[in-house]
Amino acid sequence: MAKNREWPPDPEPLATPVVDNHTHLTHVPDVLHDGVPDPGVAGHLDWAAGVGVDRVVQVGCDLDSAPVSVAMAGEHPAVVAGVAVHPIEAPLHDGVREVAPDGLDPMVLDRHAVGLDEAITQIADLARHPRVRTIAETGLDFFRAGEQGRVSQRAAFRAHIALAKELHLPMQIHDREAHAEVLEILAADGAPPVTVFHCFSGDVAMARICAERGYYLSFAGTVSFKNAEQLRAAARVVPAQLLQVETDAPYLTAHPWRGRPNAPYLLPHTVRALARARDEDPEELASVLSATAEEIYGPW
Ligand SMILES: [Zn+2]
Repeated sequence: MAKNREWPPDPEPLATPVVDNHTHLTHVPDVLHDGVPDPGVAGHLDWAAGVGVDRVVQVGCDLDSAPVSVAMAGEHPAVVAGVAVHPIEAPLHDGVREVAPDGLDPMVLDRHAVGLDEAITQIADLARHPRVRTIAETGLDFFRAGEQGRVSQRAAFRAHIALAKELHLPMQIHDREAHAEVLEILAADGAPPVTVFHCFSGDVAMARICAERGYYLSFAGTVSFKNAEQLRAAARVVPAQLLQVETDAPYLTAHPWRGRPNAPYLLPHTVRALARARDEDPEELASVLSATAEEIYGPW
């Protein structure tokens, strides 16, 4: 039976507006299959606003989507942008071609003809645009990299840390199966003053370390998954002022719509799952989350 790829119904709206800390509206059309209409950027923003998600951080983390994201942020007042070379992209710019454990070959595209240093230079130029409010997403992804790829990822991560500090921008971290080394590099190089773990995937011990160091933890739909008790436990040990929420759309759709396409309008599911895990009122949590988003990225 074919997978159901239709848009899930609207969640019950939040009365208190909340920000989607990390989304990829640029990637939504790619994951939709035949017959599922994509409302486009303005449509997604309206749809989200209708259920209380009034603003988004649009992340363009390759040389194709980064400039598109900056333009999107220039055009839509609800959007600010993040730009970076994603840890999965870094090895490809270095000519490293490794097959991931799930058997997926890396997709080598025209943009990867640009070397890694030049790619980061192009990102640095884009990052000077006033609507770029974060270096995102950078870090380590050991799931999708062997030994050689990890060398490229470390180099790219350190270059992005330096860039975020130079431009006084917050940094969003992508950390997949690389918790210890991400924390190590941040400590060794000195993290940017504002560091946000996007789609936090660590345990209670790691959440405590992050909180001690003042890093923000952004929870995605994964916190609502049935088997995610470890994540909910991690979410409970962090002060509310260090929390963010995100869709990471079009991926990681929250329960009960796991497997369907994702978009910012589905964020209320994650806000409620996080509030339930922390035994807090979702509206009060939403109000703290919104204030924190402005502290991190500045007003927009
Ligand atoms: Zn992402």
